[in-house]
Amino acid sequence: MPDQTPPVIPEPRDLTLRPEHTGTRPAVTVLAGPTAVGKGTVSQYIREHYPQVCLSVSATTREPRPGEIDGVHYSFVSHQQFDELVKQGKMLEWAQVHGQNKYGTPRSMVENALAKGRHVLLEIDLQGARQVRQTLPEATFVFLAPPSWEELVRRLTGRGTESPEEQQRRLETAKLELAAEPEFDAVIVNDTVGQASARLVEVMQLTTPQQ
Ligand code: 5GP
Repeated sequence: MPDQTPPVIPEPRDLTLRPEHTGTRPAVTVLAGPTAVGKGTVSQYIREHYPQVCLSVSATTREPRPGEIDGVHYSFVSHQQFDELVKQGKMLEWAQVHGQNKYGTPRSMVENALAKGRHVLLEIDLQGARQVRQTLPEATFVFLAPPSWEELVRRLTGRGTESPEEQQRRLETAKLELAAEPEFDAVIVNDTVGQASARLVEVMQLTTPQQ
């Protein structure tokens, strides 16, 4: 029987720089957070409203959803192509998300953006964020939190894309993901997508290297 106690929901928290940030002014921001919190919606909003932000395009083995464009929302690749990219060391990080498809950040994407002096945003899952913490500790790590547990449950069940068993499994994972909040440099609450996106862009501006 799964634990029915609602987990503690993180409060909003301003950016705190770590010793790894000093002198370097971080130019990579990682946005992570629990399943169904709306990371994809926030990054879509940023893509449409903040063209100055360089959003990394992940590679994935999942099928495109209606309206998704190859090379814009994701690079859609086969399992074989994905495994080859990993083998060749071309992924900055990668993970199998929800035990199904693989997702990864192409290293070249990030390196090219940084070489041009641009600040790059990675919207990835917690496993990926932890890998980036190891390889790029100077990046800024932002946790996207739901306004409440009830709202997270509502968003997950409301989108109706998962079976009840899958929803239950994802909610259990969400509890573990919520507990990872102290690993992050800032917490933004996704109350409305416009406000959350504006706050994220503010955090990125705070950490953009000055010319
Ligand atoms: P979706 O299939 O709904 O677009 O994304 C599913 C999950 O994969 C989301 O939690 C999203 O943050 C994560 N994700 C998307 N791209 C990447 C990536 O490049 N690396 C990792 N680790 N996770 C990703």
